[in-house]
This record gives sequence, structure tokens and C-alpha cells, in this order.
Amino acid sequence: MQATLALPARRIGVLGAGQLGRMLELAGRPLGQRVELLATPEAPGEAPDVLTFESESLAPEALALAARGAPIHPPLRALVLGQDRVHEKELFARLGIETAAWAPLAGGQDLPAAVVRIGLPALLKTRRGGYDGRGQWPIRSTEDVARAARELGARPAVLERFVPFTRELSILAVRAADGERACYPLVENHHVDGILRLSLAPARVAPRLQCEAEAMAQALLTELEYVGVLALELFEHRGRLLANELAPRVHNSGHWTIEGAETSQFENHLRAIAGLPLGSTRALGPCAMVNLIGSLPPARAVLAVPGAHLHDYGKEPRPGRKLGHVTLRAASEPELAARLAELAGRIDLALPEAVRRWMHSSSCAST
Ligand code: AMP
Repeated sequence: MQATLALPARRIGVLGAGQLGRMLELAGRPLGQRVELLATPEAPGEAPDVLTFESESLAPEALALAARGAPIHPPLRALVLGQDRVHEKELFARLGIETAAWAPLAGGQDLPAAVVRIGLPALLKTRRGGYDGRGQWPIRSTEDVARAARELGARPAVLERFVPFTRELSILAVRAADGERACYPLVENHHVDGILRLSLAPARVAPRLQCEAEAMAQALLTELEYVGVLALELFEHRGRLLANELAPRVHNSGHWTIEGAETSQFENHLRAIAGLPLGSTRALGPCAMVNLIGSLPPARAVLAVPGAHLHDYGKEPRPGRKLGHVTLRAASEPELAARLAELAGRIDLALPEAVRRWMHSSSCAST
């Protein structure tokens, strides 16, 4: 109750000064919130009313330093948990959230035994520090075992059974300090080399799967006494959902909500951590979000496509770096497919094969 009666926070510190912080800052303006991006925890300035963060790889000590006594949302417990694949999977298991079969490893020497236990194909992942597909080794055959064990060395890890998933999905959920909560529709995600390339939202799924995903996200929000936006990455496999990992922050697969939902993930994150009521998470129409990686196309080419919105993060181009994104919104799926095809015709866009198939079937559905 106290949280709802307290005055909303007006000065919000964000540790990290990348694109997520920037989009939070933009969302804060109409709400009258001053969002200050802190590139380092020692950055000078007044103590914030509340501190949040845009990266899950931060040290909890750095957050405590930057907060200077102010509350930190989401809770540090969620951050610390998300940094450790073993603790994360143990929590999933405790909450009845299914995952791929997995085994913990103290180091490379444990790999042969873990392979016997989990079976092949499998994926070896460092227990800590992996991101966007880094720190991972596919183990397809016994020949891969010795090499991966050597490269892993003394680092703790997990071995996961490879899931031949139908699709990758994610759900974003938000919880306010007074316990109010909301979930966004499931999003369908397409990765290349472990990096998100394209999201389709809302994902076309049976209502049962949306309910299943919401139940998982809600269980996590409750367990972690969470405040803010949380993302849960999922595999759809044989009509069921398996959890892959959680991100205790606004998430790339939620960028579509800026133009595609009644309230964006960034606005809802700020509302939650500032002690304000949450906004509707309803989708306004089918959306596609395309990440711009390595180089930016000419703005003119993107904006010539009806329904296209360009986000240029203002970052120095570098191979593999996320420099911006485009969100396309349409009134119907066939229209969205047509707009995505038009975008692909105007800019250099490596569309995953599954997306091409979806575009083809959607445009056939309209004729
Ligand atoms: P992660 O770093 O755990 O998010 O993994 C990066 C990407 O690797 C995921 O988005 C999936 O495309 C793929 N991946 C991760 N774990 C598995 C798994 N157990 N089975 C199949 N693919 C996986």
C-alpha cells in the first residue's frame, strides 16, 4: 500500500548508456520523469529517486554504488540470478517451469560424464558471462567433446540438450511495486548466429500457449518480488513451452511495443519503477521488428515503406553491432508481410528462411 501512496519517483538513474537506456529516456519525457543515463557507477550527479539498469552483466556492487541508497528496481536478486545459468535453471525447476534437460559442470573435465547423462546433440554454455550466443559450443558428436572441453577449460558450465524447437518465443511481463502486473502478447523471434534479427508480434499462437507463458512469467515476478519489466525467452517444442533464459530488464524482443502496443515496454518499466499505474499491454496491430546490425541503411529507403518506423541508436558502426531497428506495423498479417517484403526490397536485409516462408504463406492467405 505504501508504494501506491508514495509520490512517484521523478529522477530515475539508468546504469548503462546504450540503446535501452536511451529508449527509457525517451519514454520518460512525456511522463515528466528525468531519466539520467549513467555510463559508469561513479558518474557524478545527484542521487536518483530510483535506480534501474539496462544490462544484465553488471556487478551488483556497481549498482549499489550508483544507487547511493536509492531503491534499485528490478531487484538485485533477479540480476544476480540471471547471471548464473545454474541458479536460473534451479529456480525454473522449483517453480515448475520446464526447460531442456541440463547438467551442471565444474569445468571441461566433467563434459564426458555430462554428455552421457544428457545425450547428444547438446549445447555447452558457460555458467556465467555468455551473451548473444557467445560462450557456447554445439556438441553434435563425440569428436566435439574433447575440443569443447579443452576450450571451456576450468570455467563452470552447463550442458543442455539441444531442443529442435519449432519456434523461439519470448514473453515480456511487468510488475508494479503494489503488485499490479501485466503481460505482453508472445513474440516470435528469429536469431542468426545467436543474435536476434527479427521479431514478429503478436506471435500467432494458440491462446493456451499465451496462458502457459503468462503463468511462467507471473510465477517469476511473484517469486522475485519483481518491479519493472522482465523478459523470458522460450522455445516452442512439440506444442509446449520450454524456458531458455530470463532477462531482468527491457528486452530487444519488446522493441515493437514502441509503436505496436498501447503502452511500450519502456513506458511500463518506468511506470512500474516510479510507482505509477501500469498501462495497457494490448497490441495495436501485427508488427515486425528488424534489427539493423553492422551497418545502417539510408533512412530514406526505410521510411519510404508504409508503416515503417526507424530507430537509429547513434552508435559507431562495427560488424555484429546492433545499430538500430525498424518496426513495421500493419492492419493485417498479409499487409505486414507485404510491407516486410517491400522493406527487404529496399534495404539489405538477410531474412531468415522461416520468415520468408511466413511471408509467402501470409501473402497467399490474402489472395
Ligand atoms: P542463449 O545465450 O541461451 O540465449 O542462447 C542463444 C541462442 O542459442 C538461443 O536464442 C537459441 O537460438 C540457441 N539455443 C540456446 N539453447 C538452446 C538449446 N538448448 N537448444 C537449441 N537451441 C538453443
